[in-house]
Amino acid sequence: MRQAEYEALSLRMRHGYEYGETKGVGFFRAASLEGMSGLIHGFTARKGGVSAPPFDTLNLAFGKTEPMDAPKNVQRNFEIFCAAAGVPYHSLCIINFEHGANVVAVSGADCGRGIVRGPLAPCDGLVTNDPAVTLITSHADCGAFFLYDPVHRAVGAGHAGWKGMLGRIGRNLVEAMRREYGSNPADLIASNGPCICRNCYEVDEALAAQFEAEFGVACSTTGRPGKRQLDLEIPAAVQLLEAGVRPENITLMHACTFEMPELLFSHRRVRGKTGDMAGFIKLT
Ligand SMILES: [Zn+2]
Repeated sequence: MRQAEYEALSLRMRHGYEYGETKGVGFFRAASLEGMSGLIHGFTARKGGVSAPPFDTLNLAFGKTEPMDAPKNVQRNFEIFCAAAGVPYHSLCIINFEHGANVVAVSGADCGRGIVRGPLAPCDGLVTNDPAVTLITSHADCGAFFLYDPVHRAVGAGHAGWKGMLGRIGRNLVEAMRREYGSNPADLIASNGPCICRNCYEVDEALAAQFEAEFGVACSTTGRPGKRQLDLEIPAAVQLLEAGVRPENITLMHACTFEMPELLFSHRRVRGKTGDMAGFIKLT
């Protein structure tokens, strides 16, 4: 996509987020999705859970490497999350992310995977048309994708750091919904979630150059010598637009994980182990 074209389309997208708390649990939401019937969605804040530092308090990931939060704390946090979000505990289906771009279609038969049953095969994106399933993604700086097809009644969710963005997991989600459920990209309502922002995300020049080459638009700004400041929201939007999502139907939240320590975990901010927030989306 050309720079001028992106800038024009960006003006037609929605920018910003809504934040509210229910039963002590905070949720970031996209106004466009919140305003539609037929689904619930959100991205959790770190408040209201039971975990101790550095996972304090609403850590919603079991972790794969030491130090890890106690599983009983994470399970309790998911119970607290479910009560606040209004979703059944046994409806949860948790992504098994590997910083790839693989998308898996799930159904009611997959409820409980990654929480009360064994994990899914490695994947960074999930799609479903089954209202029995709550799709769950895990984040602590990495971007999120939320997708809703109000015509064919289907949803998608994704996790994307720089690898997933370069791998175009957003496009892969759109294609999976088209393939699995017959979704027309022009019908899709899309949002990202909170993620580390350009001002806070320093990367090597070579990585930034990969983004410019892949997406054709400026995805970074100048930084320290040998470094660039990378924007994860621009490549998210570009790949949705190129996949056929209408700019009016795309929301970029512009909520920075690094800059909101009271509300959001950030791996970069603490330079070490921290908890994870969850993105969720479910048909009702
Ligand atoms: Zn920031």
